[in-house]
Order: sequence, then structure tokens, then C-alpha cells
Amino acid sequence: MPKPNPRHPDFPIPGGPALRAKSWRAEGLLRLLENVLSVGEAPDKLIVYAALGKAARTWPAHAAIVKSLTEIEEDETLIIQSGKPVGILKTHPGAPMVIMANCNIVGQWAKADVFYDMERKGLICWGGLTAGAWQYIGSQGVIQGTYEIFMRIAERRFGGSLAGRFILTAGLGGMGGAQPLAGRMAGAAILCIDVDEDRAKMRQDIGFLDEIAPDLDSALAMIDAACAEGRATSIALIGNAAEIYPEIAARGITPDIVTDQTSAHDLVYGYIPAGYDLPRVRRLREQNPEELIEAGRISITHHVAAMLEFQARGAEVFDNGNLIRTQAKQGGIENAFDIPIFTEAYLRPLFCRAIGPFRWMALSGEESDIARIDDLVLRMFPENGIVTNWIRLARAHVPFEGLPARIAWLGHGERTELARAVNRMVASGELAGPVAFSRDHLDAGAMAHPNIMTEGMRDGSDAIADWPLISAMTLCSSGADLVVVHSGGGGYAGYMTSSGVTIVADGTEAADMRLKLALTNDTALGVIRYADAGYADALDEAQKKAVGHVKL
Ligand code: NAD
Repeated sequence: MPKPNPRHPDFPIPGGPALRAKSWRAEGLLRLLENVLSVGEAPDKLIVYAALGKAARTWPAHAAIVKSLTEIEEDETLIIQSGKPVGILKTHPGAPMVIMANCNIVGQWAKADVFYDMERKGLICWGGLTAGAWQYIGSQGVIQGTYEIFMRIAERRFGGSLAGRFILTAGLGGMGGAQPLAGRMAGAAILCIDVDEDRAKMRQDIGFLDEIAPDLDSALAMIDAACAEGRATSIALIGNAAEIYPEIAARGITPDIVTDQTSAHDLVYGYIPAGYDLPRVRRLREQNPEELIEAGRISITHHVAAMLEFQARGAEVFDNGNLIRTQAKQGGIENAFDIPIFTEAYLRPLFCRAIGPFRWMALSGEESDIARIDDLVLRMFPENGIVTNWIRLARAHVPFEGLPARIAWLGHGERTELARAVNRMVASGELAGPVAFSRDHLDAGAMAHPNIMTEGMRDGSDAIADWPLISAMTLCSSGADLVVVHSGGGGYAGYMTSSGVTIVADGTEAADMRLKLALTNDTALGVIRYADAGYADALDEAQKKAVGHVKL
């Protein structure tokens, strides 16, 4: 039975033993589509996160996807083009059940204005990374990534602990909403600025945020008190980051860590310029988007100038993957790229070993399934400090949103081993139902984005998008259940291409084969991608784990 969803009553959380589709593979993918809407930011508009990231192109397209998934046979493949189903083809039971290409625009045309024009004409939609691929699991999807970044900074700069440290950030949306909880879990006092009070209240309601401060003075006093006591806390302040960051700088206050996760990548549908309220911005989106682009870019120059000032005073400042430096540079801040990107600064050594954001969703809707898998992870990987620490913390601190799910940064071999063991638990009836496995698109072999994932690659291959395409073809060849190629839309048009994958562990031998091939080959390709670029860690991993790297 689906469960009521207090956040979006019209979008219940799927679950229960009854199938509407002809197989668990199709039923699982259908539940994941329902899930991204149940945990999404504006499901009535099909919007899941990142301002414009959609689950399907239109409501009629959504209805046709649902109908197709309920009717599809085991030897057929549903084809989806930019959020619209266009065909069901006869393939074979070892082929993917769904393949998608979302928002891929030919090179010279891949610009925000061309995207908006085609979107208005109903020809395209942007799937974000995990929205259009039905893999989004709420703010918890990025929470370990954010936590690991904070912990890497703690190790490098603060003797391994963030107790008594002040983190300043902004954006409490679909992804940015993970920041307050990640900051608190890392032991810091974190202040999160957002213009939209409803977003802050929602994060507080679902347990991701402790308190909302009435004004800047109170917010800074609350942070000061927490830092003095070495107490972890998360505080939100309603306001515009382009005004509040410079104000904090002008008061001579320097946070220990500064970042930002407003939707700065999209100046029309995402970022709110200083001095503009939300109703005015909503009107201008239709009536005068050019005004918003201009005002947004000016605001971002102030926003980033303050971040650079904090950096000059010694704060650890980084870009958390929202294109804010790119916008600032276009607005005239020549040294915006003095701020490092999080992937290159903190996470690349993990990606070199294909350790990245792996995730699983209990299709039964039962939280006890995730608890049993947590126990399994702790038993299987006792030597893996990153993962055992994370699972213990996540159990204690991360509330479930939508289908019960967990994320954990596992690498080559580990993902396959875990998923096959879970598949055996499904077969033996230890779990209440099948489990879907997936990963973020921001994963070792899966994404090209020269200002986020692949910035500063050792061999200069930042803009080469062959890797995500090879990744998707490899996943199709390996029989994954859903395979997708995404490129950027809105403000991200022309900036990125990525691949996504989902496999349903339904307890069958066929699922065991899919998990073994797809997950092993996915992480092998991740190691190969970094080995090819000449990273020593990846070359070492490739040799140690015999991933099949061909060396010239
Ligand atoms: P979202 O659209 O759901 O939320 C953005 C939030 O920013 C909203 O709450 C909005 O009110 C707020 N905001 C906008 N302008 C503001 C301003 N000037 N001052 C204060 N608040 C402002 O977006 P999201 O899903 O949270 O994603 C945020 C950004 O992070 C996007 O650019 C997205 O692409 C990027 N992202 C990064 C990663 C990563 O791995 N690092 C992952 C996913 C998304």
C-alpha cells in the first residue's frame, strides 16, 4: 500500500507487495518515478530539484510512461526522449527495460536561450541528473558527499574536527537542503541563507535543520554561542546571500568554511537577485527574463566578491557545483576561479578508485529493509572507515524521505558484492521486497562537466564527453534495467553530459547477473577513466583490482 505523504498529499509514497506492472523490474522503475515526485520540490509541475530538473516532460507524457511501465513485457525496452515515451521495442530479457536520452543538444546550439525556446515549444525537458532518471531520493542523496567534503576540510585544516567551527553557506533547496544536516553531522555550527522562508521551514519540518533565526544579529549570536561551546548546530536565516555575505564580511567576521548552493546555474528559473522578492521574480520569468539575467549576474558578482574576501582572510572557500564562479566571471570577476571546485579539491582521490555516491532504495517501502542492509554493510566492510562511520551516523541522524533509501560511497568490487548479497536476501525472503540500486551521475566514469566534475583533469581532458557516452553504452551492454544519457538544460546547457543507471534486485538469478555485470563494469570504467588521465591512485587501483585497463 502507498503511504500518505504529508509534504505533498497528492503524491503518496509508493510501497507494498502488490504489483501493477507485469514484473518487479517494471514495477520497481514505476515506484522510482513516483518516488522522485513524492520527494520533489514542486511535483505538481513535475519539478524535482535544481530549479528545472523534471521527472517527465508533461503530464500526458507522464501518464504514457506510467501506462507503458504497467504494460511492458520482460523482452521489451521502453524508449524515452527528453521525458517523453516514444516507443516500446522488442529486445530480449537481458536488455535494459528503459533507455533514455534527456536534453542532449547539438554542440553549437547547446545554450540556455535555445534550451528555453525548445522547452517552451514542448520539444525538450531537463532531467537534472537524477530527476529525469527517477533516481532522486531527496536531499539525503547528496548528504554524504557534503559531509565527506566537510570532513576532508576538517582533516586538512582543523585537526580532524569541526567542533567550534563556523560554516557559512546558502541555498536550502532540493540539494542544498542537505547542507545544514551534513554540517551538524560533521560537528560544526552552520549558517544557511535562503530567500525563501517556505524552503527553510520545510527543511526544519523534515529534521534537516535545527532553527530559523529572526535576523542576522541573532543568527551570528547563535553561531557564536555554539562555536564557543563546541556544539554542533544548524541555523537558517531568511535573506539574500548576495546581501548577507557582503554584510558579514563588512562586519569583519570570517567564517572558517564558506560555500554556496543556491541555484546560481540558472539566472532565470533559479537564482534570486538581491532586491527582488519571489512574486516579482516569478512574474519576470515570463515577462522579462533578460532583466533577471542581468540583475542575477550583478548580484552574483557581489556574492562571489564576498566569498573571495573570506578566502583572502584565510577561510576555506569552495564552489559546491552550482556554476557560481562561471556566472561571476561572466559578470566581470576575473579571479572567480581562485575559488576551487569541490571535486578537484577534496574528492578526486576517491573518484580515482571509483569510490562514489552509490545508493539503494527499498521498493517495499519498509524502513526495516534499509536497517537490515545497514547491518549487512557494517558486517561486510568492517575495514572501510568511511562507510562504517557514515552508516552509523546516517542511522542516527538522517531521516527517511519518500521510499526508505540509503547512500554510501562504495568503490569497485564493493558495490557489486553488496548488491548481490542484497539480491540473495530478497530471494530468501529476509527483506520485505526488492531493492533498487543506483548511483549519482556525479560518479567516476559517468560525468563530463569542465566546471564541476572534470575541472583541472591531469591530462587536460576536462571537456571530453566521450566517457559518459561510453558509460551508458557499457551499462546497456551489461544489461542494466534503466540506462540514461543526460546533458545540461537551463543555465547548465552546454556544460555537462552524464550517464545514469538503475538495477532492480528482485531476488532472481537474472538480477544477479545484471548486478554483477553492470555494477562491476560501471566502477571498472570509472577507474579506467582516471587511469587514462594518468592519476597514480587510479593506475594503482586498476592494477590491484584487474579492472581490464588497456595501457599503451
Ligand atoms: P533548488 O532550485 O531546489 O534550490 C535553490 C535554493 O536557492 C532555493 O531554496 C532558493 O530559494 C535559493 N536561492 C536562490 N537564489 C538565492 C539567493 N540569491 N540568496 C539566497 N537563496 C537563494 O536547487 P538545488 O537542487 O538545491 O541545487 C542547488 C545548486 O546545487 C544547483 O545549481 C545544482 O545544480 C547544484 N548541485 C550540486 C550538487 C553537488 O553534488 N555538489 C548536486 C546537486 C545539485
